[in-house]
Amino acid sequence: SLPTIYAITPTYKRLVQKADLTRMSNTLLHVANLHWIVVEDSENKTSLVGDLLKKTGLNYTHLNIPETKKLTSRGSRQRNLALKWLRDNFSVNDSNEGVVYFADDDNTYSLELFDEMRYTKKVSVWPVGFTGQMRFGSCKVDELGKVSGWVVLFDPNRPFAVDMAGFAINLKLILTKSKVTFRLFNIAAGRQETTFLGDLVTLSDLEPKAANCTKVLVWHTRTSAPPNILSLGDPNIES
Ligand code: UDP
Ligand code: MN
Repeated sequence: SLPTIYAITPTYKRLVQKADLTRMSNTLLHVANLHWIVVEDSENKTSLVGDLLKKTGLNYTHLNIPETKKLTSRGSRQRNLALKWLRDNFSVNDSNEGVVYFADDDNTYSLELFDEMRYTKKVSVWPVGFTGQMRFGSCKVDELGKVSGWVVLFDPNRPFAVDMAGFAINLKLILTKSKVTFRLFNIAAGRQETTFLGDLVTLSDLEPKAANCTKVLVWHTRTSAPPNILSLGDPNIES
């Protein structure tokens, strides 16, 4: 059977949250064998997220954990809780295959992307549109088909200069390397991905996807609240 894709999505209360999660769930409904792990950055689980998840018909797990301080990488605490959930619920000895993907709630995902990541052996990588002030950020692939570096503006010498949306990890690797998490403190801006991946693999382990990193299949889009918003109508109506 198809390996399961575990898509991990941190989410928090913002004006566009329901629109973002609606759009994202409509994408995920087209993906076979997908389990959506949605982690709310909140003291309590909200009914906005809970009801939405229930109605999608997707396989999902709904978790929550609030942010404690202002962290350099928003969503890290939530992603770590999802990693803990995977480690608590699966064992390396299980026969089921899986792949783990960090999927923010406001990005744009092509359906092809999920086909590309599904058979990841260790860690697969691919280009990401609109990341780091670029049309797209990408991976360099040498003549042997191995990832040799990165085409990015910000510090291309980072060992893994890839956006959170630009890689996926085999579930067994997450389970084997059971201590690896996103660092919450003492981590410079823009280093969350490279530090995390550095704890999991070396460059030679990387599997380039999306036609040797020549296709853009995911975009780091950002949704912004419409300006000058007015709240008319019944305040109890969810939006
Ligand atoms: N996020 C969160 N708590 C926060 C800020 C962000 O859980 O305080 C989530 C957000 O919903 C998204 C991810 O973390 O899934 C990345 O946040 P955002 O999209 O705001 O970051 P950007 O795209 O601007 O880097
Ligand atoms: Mn975003």
